[in-house]
Amino acid sequence: MYKKNEIIELTIEDMGVEGEGIGKLDGYTFFVKGALDGDRIEAKVLKANKNYGFARVERILTPSPYRVEAQCDVSEQCGGCQLQSLSYERQLQYKQNLVDNNLRRLGGLSGYTLHPIIGMENPFRYRNKTQFPVGQNSRGEIVTGFYAGRTHSIIDTADCAIAPRINAKIIQIIKDFMRDNGIGAYDEISHGGLVRHILIRNAFSTGEIMVCLVINGSSLPFSEDLIGRLEKVEGMAGISLSINRDKTNVIMGSRIIHLYGKETITDYIGDLRFEISPLSFYQVNPVQTLEIYKKALEYAGLTGRETVWDLYCGIGTISLFLAGKAAKVYGVEIIPQAIEDAKKNASANQIENVEFILGKSEEVFPQMCKEEGRIPDVVVVDPPRKGCDEKLLKAIVEVGPSRMVYVSCNPATLARDLKYMTAQGYEVREVQPVDNFPGTVHVESVVLLSRTEGTTRAD
Ligand code: SAH
Repeated sequence: MYKKNEIIELTIEDMGVEGEGIGKLDGYTFFVKGALDGDRIEAKVLKANKNYGFARVERILTPSPYRVEAQCDVSEQCGGCQLQSLSYERQLQYKQNLVDNNLRRLGGLSGYTLHPIIGMENPFRYRNKTQFPVGQNSRGEIVTGFYAGRTHSIIDTADCAIAPRINAKIIQIIKDFMRDNGIGAYDEISHGGLVRHILIRNAFSTGEIMVCLVINGSSLPFSEDLIGRLEKVEGMAGISLSINRDKTNVIMGSRIIHLYGKETITDYIGDLRFEISPLSFYQVNPVQTLEIYKKALEYAGLTGRETVWDLYCGIGTISLFLAGKAAKVYGVEIIPQAIEDAKKNASANQIENVEFILGKSEEVFPQMCKEEGRIPDVVVVDPPRKGCDEKLLKAIVEVGPSRMVYVSCNPATLARDLKYMTAQGYEVREVQPVDNFPGTVHVESVVLLSRTEGTTRAD
């Protein structure tokens, strides 16, 4: 039995779902944060349970052949990217295996075609949205950057390797503005100070940039000065304030005060145009999102005659993407603002064969889909990390669409839901992992299920 603080030596042979290294000593498993697949390490035992324990790297004795130098100076402290020190090729393998293992072990599935993961040509600078917390250090200087993993202490850095370079310049301008005008940063503990967060959105397809300062107050003193400084940045399309006076971890406040330029910035995914406001939900990696949507469209197998339901539709991106090849698309989403955005996006793109419905997928779908003309040929789901509500899966089985396309951001809940569907007359045909978040442990998957021969609709 191992004891706390004991020093051990082990080889890391695998990596867990949070990117932690996994190694074994005489059949006993250790989880070691910061250690990579292939490392030989000296580690200190933090906790030892009966069958497994946790340890911390003390020294890397022989580095893993898959280790690379992280692009970012603060990748060890920052909670954002867990896999930056792992070669990109190995990251992709890790994610491919993660999806496959979940489907096989948790889902008990087999017989599907697993396609090689779609990675990025350049796995850096891909994020179109960054939210920088603002604080003050012990010398009273303004700091901005990222929270250290699982804490609220700010690592002072403006250049994030997965976000555009221009952000660092924008952050510096705002810091200088605050210092020159004596504007303080928000302090979580005293609930005093003004500037809480800086949101920067970059529309890659048009080059437009939006800056929104989240403030603990109703106005920003000397805002003309800030505008004067920021408008010189190429692409600066809109500047605004978001009012958030609550004691909360939620970043954005719901009231927006517009200061300069346009209220939205324009971006394209494929040929579709989107107007994005500070509060809109929008996919953070538009390049890979297009890959996911193209795959969803391919798997939907549309000929122009189908009725499609897009459940968990957000601002309607998938619905609009499918509408060109379907007779009718119904989108369902729980957030009222997203439904409003979805309707606006449909009309901005002159798409008329879509209808967006506000509500829970597991309630709206069973209630409305059996009506004349609404019976689905294809159902697409793209749920949050917790996966689909079982009530919804049951309702899908009952109406029995010939195809279901499952877009997932969590292989574990995907496996659980696919297990349910395969027990109810569906078969998993194709699985396409997509790397939407290089450097992190997250992976998306697009899955095609079809109703097996011989089963008939229950209605
Ligand atoms: N398909 C969209 C959004 C996917 S994110 C896109 O590609 O951009 C998942 C969405 O599901 C979020 O917008 C969330 O608000 C919504 N959601 C969460 N629970 C829901 C439920 N029970 N019913 C409908 N929508 C839900």
